[in-house]
Amino acid sequence: MPKFYQLSRAERIAELQRAGILGPDAADLLRNNAALEEETADHLTENQIAQYPLPLGVVHKLRVNGVQREVAIAGEEPSVVAAASNGARMAAIAGGVRASAPRTHLVDAEIAFTVQVPAAQRILTEHDADIRAVAERAHPSIVQRGGGLRTITYSEVGSACKVTLSIDVQEAMGANIVNTIAEAVSHLLSHYFQQEPLFAILTNYSAATTTAQIDLPFAAVATKQASGEHVAAKIAAASDFACQDVARASTNNKGIMNGISGAAIALGQDYRALEAGVYAYAAHTGRYMPLSHWTLTDTGLHGELSLPLALGTVGGAISALPLAQVSQELARIDNVRTAQEVLAALGLVQNLAALRALVGPGIQAGHMALQAGALAIAAGATGAEVDLVTRELQNTPKTLAAARMLLEQLRKHKEEQ
Ligand code: NDP
Repeated sequence: MPKFYQLSRAERIAELQRAGILGPDAADLLRNNAALEEETADHLTENQIAQYPLPLGVVHKLRVNGVQREVAIAGEEPSVVAAASNGARMAAIAGGVRASAPRTHLVDAEIAFTVQVPAAQRILTEHDADIRAVAERAHPSIVQRGGGLRTITYSEVGSACKVTLSIDVQEAMGANIVNTIAEAVSHLLSHYFQQEPLFAILTNYSAATTTAQIDLPFAAVATKQASGEHVAAKIAAASDFACQDVARASTNNKGIMNGISGAAIALGQDYRALEAGVYAYAAHTGRYMPLSHWTLTDTGLHGELSLPLALGTVGGAISALPLAQVSQELARIDNVRTAQEVLAALGLVQNLAALRALVGPGIQAGHMALQAGALAIAAGATGAEVDLVTRELQNTPKTLAAARMLLEQLRKHKEEQ
């Protein structure tokens, strides 16, 4: 029985449909590989001149909180899905990843003023009901959905000050909801504070993290060359190293985001907002730190990843992007907490696979084997030539020059036949 990665694209779609993960409409959409409707594309960007295709891969069978997920990733780096799938395979040995997202989805807005207000706290308390009424009038539907303004706090920022509104955005990512409320409240506050606001906007920073954890037996991380004990000890040591070394922490975190950013694109998210929040959180202690940490236990390796994940399951461009909805269907995501838990789990297994390769054979062996296809295309290979040159590249140094030479030889050989 061939493995999922050995199947053709059509066979993979059929397999996902057979397993009841994809419905017929979603399967057809994937099969047809259709572009966006012209009007949709025109509305999603100004000055549209084309659509920009990226391949959509699937991390097969990522087990999160006891449920098997298929996580779609849009991206151009061949090793991302391969590494995450390898991490998911290791995680499955340990029963999968446990993940936990915040119970309430809060997004903060900052309303800034240039001059501090000595009586601000008293003013805000006195006018609390009026501020809440303005917030509700600005976006009544979010209140009807059970969300809306939760807390109002005042703080000084140098010689300036700010009022922070913490807003429950329910299932949305919330940037527009929060900005609408913040602007309305800022007008009222300017009246109380007797000065015009400097600005009012959401912050992409959040300390409300989703945590993913895993406990792996030593055997799960063993390689052909090294015992599980040896690999686990090196992973824990590399993790400690990253806590002391910003240069390493940065690359560690980029690796975690390899899958998360691609999954966010597939899910139609504002991945810039997501990344802004994650990378800012990495420095929340005042020092840039790795987002994951791996420690040795008596029986194996404990891994933990905590990061804020600015996601939504409704709103933004999600309903305009058919593949975003298919990606939700694939991962069985029907609420924002699940989306956060699945993406945090993805980040953790991605990190595991990267660290295991890094402390073992190095990442280049696997990376370059997969990169060979991209080199073949860069050398000018088309159609069946891509596979042939990719295969030949496995036995040579994987450089563009080598790919060009192999392509030339291949074409010459064909002419001579
Ligand atoms: P929307 O403006 O699309 O608002 C959310 C929408 O979802 C509303 O129309 C709401 O309907 C609907 N909705 C349906 N069900 C629910 C539910 N259960 N909970 C919440 N909303 C629901 O999007 P967001 O406010 O989420 O903002 C995201 C967009 O903002 C993204 O496109 C992002 O790129 C952009 N953005 C990001 C910024 C940043 O990150 N710095 C800055 C500015 C914009 P209803 O109106 O009926 O309540």
